[in-house]
Amino acid sequence: MDSSTLVGRGVADGARMFREWFASLTEAPERGQPAAYVFVMGSFNELLLAFGMAPVFPEINSLQMAVRRVAHEYLNEAEDYGYSPDICGYVKADVALQLRKGKHPMGMIPKPDVAILTNACNTYLKWGEIWERMHGTPVFTVDVPGTRASGQQTWPGDPDFERDRLYVERQIRELIPLLERVSKKKFDIDRLRETMGHANDMGAAFKELIALNRSTPAVFNAVSEGTIYLGVANGFRGTPEGAAYFRDLVEEMTFKAANGIGTVTDEKHRLVFVGVPCYPIFRRFNELFSEWGGAFVSSTYLWFASGGAGLGWQYDLSRPIESLAEGTLISVRHAMDSMFFQDRALLELIDPYKVDGIVFHGIKSCRTTSTGLSDTRRVLTEKRDIPSLFLESDMMDRRVVSEAQMKNRIDAFFEGLVSRKLAKVGA
Ligand code: SF4
Repeated sequence: MDSSTLVGRGVADGARMFREWFASLTEAPERGQPAAYVFVMGSFNELLLAFGMAPVFPEINSLQMAVRRVAHEYLNEAEDYGYSPDICGYVKADVALQLRKGKHPMGMIPKPDVAILTNACNTYLKWGEIWERMHGTPVFTVDVPGTRASGQQTWPGDPDFERDRLYVERQIRELIPLLERVSKKKFDIDRLRETMGHANDMGAAFKELIALNRSTPAVFNAVSEGTIYLGVANGFRGTPEGAAYFRDLVEEMTFKAANGIGTVTDEKHRLVFVGVPCYPIFRRFNELFSEWGGAFVSSTYLWFASGGAGLGWQYDLSRPIESLAEGTLISVRHAMDSMFFQDRALLELIDPYKVDGIVFHGIKSCRTTSTGLSDTRRVLTEKRDIPSLFLESDMMDRRVVSEAQMKNRIDAFFEGLVSRKLAKVGA
C-alpha cells in the first residue's frame, strides 16, 4: 500500500457504502425486510440486525437533504402542513418525507414497522408520536439513566451502576418480544453475539481512530471527514463491513501520521468543534476554517452522534443481553454527557490534542445540543483561557445561515489567534 491507494480511501469508501446503504433501504420492502426507525444516540443496531431488520436513521435522512441542498423544500412543506419554524429541522424534514411517501434525494425510505427511541433527546419522544399518528407504528422507548451530576458517573461493579444496568436490561428483555412480533422471527442469541462481536471490532477501531488525531498535523478533519465516519458508524454498526471500514481507516490514518500527511495542506491552528455542523453550506463552512490552516482535531459531534461508540466499549459476548444493557447504558450516557457536561471532556482534550481554539456552533432548531454552550465557553475561558468562537446558524434551515456574517466572525477569530501566537513568540 502506498500514498496513492491509501490516502482518501476512507472518504471514498464511506461515500460508496452510504450510497449502497440507501439503495438497500429502497429495496427493503421488496425483500420483505421490516424497517425499524432508530436514533443515533442509542440505535440498538446489534439487536435489530439479529432480527434481520433494516435500521433507518431519520436524523441521517434529514441531514443528507441539507447536504444535498434540498432541505428547504421539505422544511417548507412541513411548515405549510402546520409545524412551527422553530422546532427541530430534522423532525420537520422527516414529516415532509413521510408526506412524500419516503421520496428522498438518495432513494426511497421505507415506512417504519417499529420505532425505538431513547431519552437522549426529548425531541425523540415527540418525533415517535408523529409516526404513531401517521402510520400506527408501534413505538418503544428505552429510558437510559443519565449522569446525575458532572463527574459522578458510576461504573460496572458499583451498586448504583448495577441498578441502572438492570433497569436497562429489563427494558431490552421487553423489547425482544416486540421485535419477534414485528420481524416474525424467533430471537437467536447467537446471531446477537455475532452482531455484537462486529460492534466490538468497530468500537475498538473507532477509539483508536479518534486518538490518532493527536498527531501533528491532524490526519482527519473531525467535522467534514468525521461526518462521513459517523454515517458508517451508525448505519453499519454490528456488521462485518462496518468493522472492516474502521480497521481500514485506522490503517490509512496511521500511514498519514507516520508520513506527516495532514488533513489541511498547511496546518496552522488546531481546533475543536462543539455542536452540530452547518449542513446547508457544509463544504463552504469547512473551507472558512481550512483556508486559514484551521484543522478540526476533534468534535463533541463525534462523541454524541456516534451514540458514544467512540468510547470503544467492548461487549462481553458470554452474556449478551446483560452486556448489551451495560454497553447501552455506558455509551448513551457518554453521548448525553458530551452534550450536557461537555466542559470536562473539552478540558481534557486541550493538552493531548494541542488545541489552539474552540468553535461553538449554536443551532437555532436544536436546543438539546445548543443549550448551555455559552456557560461551557465561560468555564473554559475561566479555567484555561483558551480562545473560542461562538457561531449561530442551523443544521437544516438555510434561511438562518448567513455565510457573509459567519466569514466575518471566523476571520476575526483567526486574526485573534494569529496575534495571540505572535505575542507569545514575542514574550
Ligand atoms: S438532538 Fe437536536 S437535532 Fe437531534 S433530534 Fe434532538 S433536537 Fe433534533
